[in-house]
Amino acid sequence: MTDRPSYIGRFAPSPTGPLHLGSLVAAMASYLDARAHHGQWLLRIEDVDGDRNVEGAEQHIIASLQRCGMQWDGEITRQTERTALYEQALRQLGDLVYPCGCSRREIADSQTSLRGKQAQNLIYPGTCRNGLAAGKSARALRLKVPTEPHCIVAFDDRWAGHLSQDLTDEVGDFIIRRADGYWAYQLAVVVDDGAQGITDIVRGADLLDSTPRQLYLQQVLGLPQPRYLHVPVVCNAQGDKLSKQTGATAFDQGLPAEQLLQHALLPAARFLGLDLRAGSIDEFWQVAIPAWAALIRL
Ligand code: GLU
Repeated sequence: MTDRPSYIGRFAPSPTGPLHLGSLVAAMASYLDARAHHGQWLLRIEDVDGDRNVEGAEQHIIASLQRCGMQWDGEITRQTERTALYEQALRQLGDLVYPCGCSRREIADSQTSLRGKQAQNLIYPGTCRNGLAAGKSARALRLKVPTEPHCIVAFDDRWAGHLSQDLTDEVGDFIIRRADGYWAYQLAVVVDDGAQGITDIVRGADLLDSTPRQLYLQQVLGLPQPRYLHVPVVCNAQGDKLSKQTGATAFDQGLPAEQLLQHALLPAARFLGLDLRAGSIDEFWQVAIPAWAALIRL
């Protein structure tokens, strides 16, 4: 038995632009799951990657959540205000961490020659694992992933089922602080989820691939493992995930509440498998929360 609270969830948007229908689906799923569990729902702004932050995006996201009737618990947190926690985690990781002088290009080249194919996800070949290779200077910090035996990470996702990844073969030692000095998403998200006592992570399936790295980090940092639920991602007509890069537009452009309901909330719920009727935003949540509980068989 532990004395962890029974449910603390979160929505953790990066302020790279306004919310679009895809990010609304992720926000809605995490909100519904928290409310269906009578749990807390925290809002954390993941502004750790200073190059991608867009002026005004945070305010836009916050206003959209409010207009949609999604009220978070407690104070909003921001990763840029939490760097002391990331530094502390780095110290705790000790000699599992090493400086790496390789550029993406060099890793990609090594991979093409090693595997004879164009790698999509770069697998780090361990070049600097035993010390910076000659002539290189430190750029990023990497976390060692065990090789003997391989680090196989398995977990049960509440939506996607049982999944596993061979981190040694499919990822290799991964970056926790980037060459540009920014903390890597993988480290920041794990440290924050741990520090905030998050018990349940509900987010888009585009992050499924990151989950084994995060589980491994939780393990080496001695943090409890949250439950996971990854909802399918919304794609455009070309089959690309909706994102700023694929030209997704804001769902909230100052629409009146009735239209926000018809053109954003109800379609997002339908995407999640909830075919609802509601005449107002309040009524929408009243019917959506029990419908979600039934959908995921609470
Ligand atoms: N900040 C990430 C994003 O906006 C989400 C992180 C997470 O939910 O773990 O894609």
